[in-house]
Amino acid sequence: MLDFTKILQIIQKYNSFLITTHLNPDADAIGSELALHDYLRILGKKVSVINADATPYTLEFLDRDRIIETYDNKKHREKINSFDVLFALDFNQLKRIGVMENVFRQSNALKICIDHHEEPENFTEYLFVDISYASTGEIIFDLLKSDNSFQLDLPIAEAIYAAIITDTGSFRFERTSPKTHLTAAELISAGVNPKTIYEKIYDQGSLNRLKLLASALKSINCNSDQSICYMRITLDDLRQNNCGEADLEGFVNYCLSVKGTKIGMLFQELEDTVKVSLRSSGNFPVNKIANQFNGGGHFNAAGIRIKGRNLDEAIEMILSAAQSYLNKEEE
Ligand code: 5GP
Ligand code: MN
Repeated sequence: MLDFTKILQIIQKYNSFLITTHLNPDADAIGSELALHDYLRILGKKVSVINADATPYTLEFLDRDRIIETYDNKKHREKINSFDVLFALDFNQLKRIGVMENVFRQSNALKICIDHHEEPENFTEYLFVDISYASTGEIIFDLLKSDNSFQLDLPIAEAIYAAIITDTGSFRFERTSPKTHLTAAELISAGVNPKTIYEKIYDQGSLNRLKLLASALKSINCNSDQSICYMRITLDDLRQNNCGEADLEGFVNYCLSVKGTKIGMLFQELEDTVKVSLRSSGNFPVNKIANQFNGGGHFNAAGIRIKGRNLDEAIEMILSAAQSYLNKEEE
C-alpha cells in the first residue's frame, strides 16, 4: 500500500489547496476531488476545486454545495498562483487538463499527483501512483483512513462509492479486488445506498441519450474475425440528439458484449479532433495502442485524441494499428 505519511505532513503544514482533475471528468475524478475537498475542509483548510471541464449533469448530485468551479482564465489565472499546494487527481499527464496545463505547470505551488494510471509524466514534486488500485477514489479512501482522527461521513462515503462503481464498471473490471469490496462494505456501513447512487449515475440519462446510443449501436462494425468491434459518433449525431460528450459514457462497453471480441472502440468526432475510447477484456493492453498515438490510459481502458484527421481516416489508422497488435500476439 502507498505510504501517505508525507501527504499528511504536507496537509498539516500548509493552508490553501487547489484540487483539479482531467478533462471530461468521470465519477472517479469528481468523487475523488469532493472526498479530498471535504476532508481538507474538515481540517479547517482553504480549498478550491477547479476543473477545465464542467461536471457532467449525471454527477452534479455529488457536488451538493456546488463547490466545483469551471476554469475561467480571467477569474482563475492569478488565483491558481496563490495556493500553497496543487493536487492533481486521477490523471498523470499535464495535457489531460487542457486549458489549465500552462497555469498548472507555471505555478510555484507544491504539486502532488494522486492517481492509478501507468507511465506518469514527471510534473509534480510528489507522485502517489499505484496502478493496482481500481480507482483513484480508493486511494483517497486509504489516504483519509491513514489519518487516525478521520471520521467517515456520508458525503465523503458517497463520493468515494461513486468513484469506485464507475471505475470498476460496478465491481466487474479486472482490478476489482477483495479490498475494493471491503472498502465498499465500509462505505455502505457509513450509510451509502448502492441502488440510489447507481440510479443517480446511470439511470438519470435523457431520452435523447438513449436515441444517441441507438445511433452508436447502429454504427457498429467488426473486423473479419470479430476480434475488433467499433462504433462511431459524428457531430451531427450529437447535434441531432441534443447531446454532449458526457452522454457517451459507457457506450464503448457494448462493443465488448460481442462474443470473441477482444478490443472495443468508440470513435467520436469533435470540432477539430477525433476522440477514441479503447477497451479490452482480458489480456490485451489497449494503452499500448494509445501510447503509439500520444494517448494513454489503463491496460483495459485507454483513450486517444487525434488532430488533423477526419473520422474515417482516424478509424482506418487506429484499426490497422490494433489489427497489427493482434496479429503480432497470434504469431
Ligand atoms: P475514456 O475512453 O473513458 O475517455 O478514457 C478511458 C481511460 O483512458 C481513462 O482512464 C482516461 O484517463 C484515459 N484517457 C482517455 N483519453 C485520453 C487521452 O487523450 N490521453 C491520455 N493520456 N489518456 C486518456
Ligand atoms: Mn480513475
